[in-house]
Amino acid sequence: MRHLPEPQNLREAVKEVIRSNSADRYHPGRFIQATEAGEAKDLKRICEHMILNPDTLTWLVDALRTHGSLLFLEDLVAEYGYGLSPAAIEEAQRRARALDELVGGGRWKSKAARVVPQAPTPQQAADGRLRRIAEQLLKLRGERGGEFFWPWLEELEGRSVDKKRANKFLLGCILDWQIHADRAWENARRLAEDVLGDPEDLWGAIAAIPLAQWMERFNQYSLHRFQKGHERVWTIGRRVLSQYRGDARNIWKDVPPSEALSRLEDLGVGEQISRMVVGALMDTGQIEGIGDVKPDRHVCRVLGRILEGSPLQPDQVVYASRQLSPENPWLLDRPLYLIGKEFCFAQDPNCPACPIRAECKYYASKGDQARSYWR
Ligand code: SF4
Repeated sequence: MRHLPEPQNLREAVKEVIRSNSADRYHPGRFIQATEAGEAKDLKRICEHMILNPDTLTWLVDALRTHGSLLFLEDLVAEYGYGLSPAAIEEAQRRARALDELVGGGRWKSKAARVVPQAPTPQQAADGRLRRIAEQLLKLRGERGGEFFWPWLEELEGRSVDKKRANKFLLGCILDWQIHADRAWENARRLAEDVLGDPEDLWGAIAAIPLAQWMERFNQYSLHRFQKGHERVWTIGRRVLSQYRGDARNIWKDVPPSEALSRLEDLGVGEQISRMVVGALMDTGQIEGIGDVKPDRHVCRVLGRILEGSPLQPDQVVYASRQLSPENPWLLDRPLYLIGKEFCFAQDPNCPACPIRAECKYYASKGDQARSYWR
């Protein structure tokens, strides 16, 4: 599945469709004619008309049948809207889903999650409850903002990170997969500094060990509880070495957060950890922009209990957090993490002590049965 492009406006979206179709050896003649290749004066009206015209769906289906996975304007409008009418956006979303089904699955992988059925509705967003939840979470973030979160980055207080620190930070993130974060950071420090002697070229030092030998050192290094977690340090490190000259900073330097996210995912860092890396870089002033929360199982549990009384799916969490904090959903990641770590345990959550309990649906549903301070 290919990544959905991110044109910034409708005109760029039209041009991107034409460019992408041409790259796929399909000539969208009628589309080019109708939109004047994106230069039509009343482009918005033309695009709305095309999307709402039942006949144009036939064009798309025919094109898909002969050329496989193509990009259509509907795919972009479904995701980004571009100020088109609600009816056109809704129809674009319906078409995008129908065209996905026609080819037996998703054609374009979005960094964003599309609207999902159980996510909060706009009415819910408007009723004030979500606003209160967002305010309380952001307040918690402000209160706990001074705490140390991102080793090797936070201590710089906004100054540019050097190569050694950037690589150790990325190593810690790679290890932060199915083990506790504190352990991942400590194991990254131990490997880089104690075992390898804090080399200038961390990934070079790791990749210099043949993979078979690296795997034999699983118990000796004790980096991760899973062999897979141990192996991915080597495989991702080797890619950083070959694709980014062994310097993690080259992954995010001079590119927008969305591109950094895409590069991290392509390296095999994983969707959720990649979001975390980009978020940490924004938190510490290494890059600027906005991002999504990292929807791991803890965040899914906490936000799900608050909003719905039970855990949400990752795409629902991404969508809901965008409703709560549209200016920058990433700002909710830390307070949700903190609530999960300190109060909202998988078993026996400590609701009476939780700062968000007044708005929490789970707590409201449990009432007196929720754990007390003294139990
Ligand atoms: S009130 Fe309870 S269930 Fe709700 S977020 Fe807090 S700890 Fe979790």
